Amino acid sequence: DAKETRQGVALYESGRDEVHLRQLALMGDLRHAIERDELSLQFQPKVEIGSRRVLHAEALVRWTHAQLGPVRPDEFVPLAERSGFIHELTRYVLDRSLAQQKKWGEQGLDLGIAVNLSAIDLMDADLPDFILACLQRHDVPPQRLILELTESALMRDVNYAVRMLHRLRAIGMRLAIDDFGTGYSSLAQLKRMPVDELKIDKSFVMQMTEDSDDAVIVRSTIELGHNMGLRVIAEGVETEDSLALLARLGCDMAQGYFLSPPLAGDALSAWARDFSA
Ligand code: C2E
Ligand code: CA
Ligand code: CA
Ligand code: CA
Repeated sequence: DAKETRQGVALYESGRDEVHLRQLALMGDLRHAIERDELSLQFQPKVEIGSRRVLHAEALVRWTHAQLGPVRPDEFVPLAERSGFIHELTRYVLDRSLAQQKKWGEQGLDLGIAVNLSAIDLMDADLPDFILACLQRHDVPPQRLILELTESALMRDVNYAVRMLHRLRAIGMRLAIDDFGTGYSSLAQLKRMPVDELKIDKSFVMQMTEDSDDAVIVRSTIELGHNMGLRVIAEGVETEDSLALLARLGCDMAQGYFLSPPLAGDALSAWARDFSA
């Protein structure tokens, strides 16, 4: 009845208030996370399926809040986008990632480093110069840096995105479309994107051996990517069976827990040595 409904609404709203308060607190604390040394990076290998070579490692940011413990990037990256902190966050991730790439090189491991950019970063006209300076500072060739941009970020303003991607590519970096299949881009729009790599979203990959609809989507995305001259990678590879199916479908690369979870920099170089041995 009406009373129950009112109580329900009150409960619901207090739940929302709590979420809202947590978000406000997190947004405020995030501004200090770098100076308080609460951010770190983990790296997850991207493996070439045919050769079992580790081609790239994707940098994934981690935040360990002093009181709250680990906060997931799915929660705090959107907050960073809303508060404007994303510019600083992205620069931190780029700087630390290139330092790690350099370190791996000194250990005899030549890996590409993949960094996630947000939609807001794409609108940042100063970013290409920052990246160029960062590459030079760490003495990393631009070809070793892969920028991952989500399909939905690219579709916000297609003309602008295309121009920005050309600028980034002119420096020599590689570009990947992330979370592919979730962003409703048309073939015509996709064709205009000067990218090198297509990442099939994990939501299609995780159940592809049980769900034939998912398998069909993955198979046709691999074909689409190859027809456009792109390298195709599947993320969310959690089982041996899904890796075997991807190999049969001709997918170029794989990433996921079955191969390795995200690891600290040193752990990743140890893993890569074992894996290729
Ligand atoms: P993403 O770029 O799609 O990254 C892949 C996510 O899937 C990562 O979650 C990774 O840990 C997780 N993952 C890897 N293998 C598997 C698997 O086999 N199964 C499943 N279920 N998941 C797997 P994570 O690290 O929590 O990051 C979540 C998202 O946060 C990322 O999605 C990305 O959108 C964003 N993110 C992370 N780091 C950064 C960053 O430095 N900058 C920006 N802008 N966004 C970031
Ligand atoms: Ca990514
Ligand atoms: Ca993804
Ligand atoms: Ca994602």
